[in-house]
Amino acid sequence: MSTQTTVVVIEDEPHIALGLKDALEFEGFRVVTADTGVAGVRLVSEERPGVILLDLMLPDMNGYQVCEEIRRHDGYVPIIMLTARSQEADKIRGLDAGADDYVTKPFAIGELVARIRAIIRRVNRPPGIESFQIGEVVVNVTAHTVQKGGNASEPLSYYEVELLRFLYERVGQPVARDEILDRVWGLDACPSNRTIDNFIVKLRRKVELTPREPAHILTVYGYGYKLVV
Ligand code: CA
Repeated sequence: MSTQTTVVVIEDEPHIALGLKDALEFEGFRVVTADTGVAGVRLVSEERPGVILLDLMLPDMNGYQVCEEIRRHDGYVPIIMLTARSQEADKIRGLDAGADDYVTKPFAIGELVARIRAIIRRVNRPPGIESFQIGEVVVNVTAHTVQKGGNASEPLSYYEVELLRFLYERVGQPVARDEILDRVWGLDACPSNRTIDNFIVKLRRKVELTPREPAHILTVYGYGYKLVV
């Protein structure tokens, strides 16, 4: 890695925070930790990290609130939620709050490192296309924004950009969910199909004129999705 990526870890359980710090530093990352939500939000604004690992249960705020607070200032930085819960509803709520991904405790550190590496690789790669158009909507890959008609541009998160970009690479063709998982999230990451579906819902709100009757991001039943421009 040519430039060292900073990872902010927001986690109140000392042994987990320390374990993550040791493991990620061993892998070449710079790691700074915070044990409260307030301290975490401040640390993120000071450090401008490449990735944030965020515990769901913190003493002063919950992870959803922290996520929303971070997203008010930075729509793009990848946020991976660490959750002891495995209920789908919690995950969906986390994704709605602006998290990009989640890892359920206890997690394998190797899997987490692989996921972080996949994100860094993609964030650091030179942009192919800077922007593209979907109907009335302009997606700006470098600015991580989407602009619908004459409206103000809206921020896109890391995975939203990657998902749109991947669908655009295959424009007009059905793309399987498994392939989306592999290409956008990476082979070692295993988010459920529900994660993809949740991202599609969020993207439709940003891209479609009538999100409930999508004209561009189409469902291919039992298979995946297809982008039509
Ligand atoms: Ca906790």
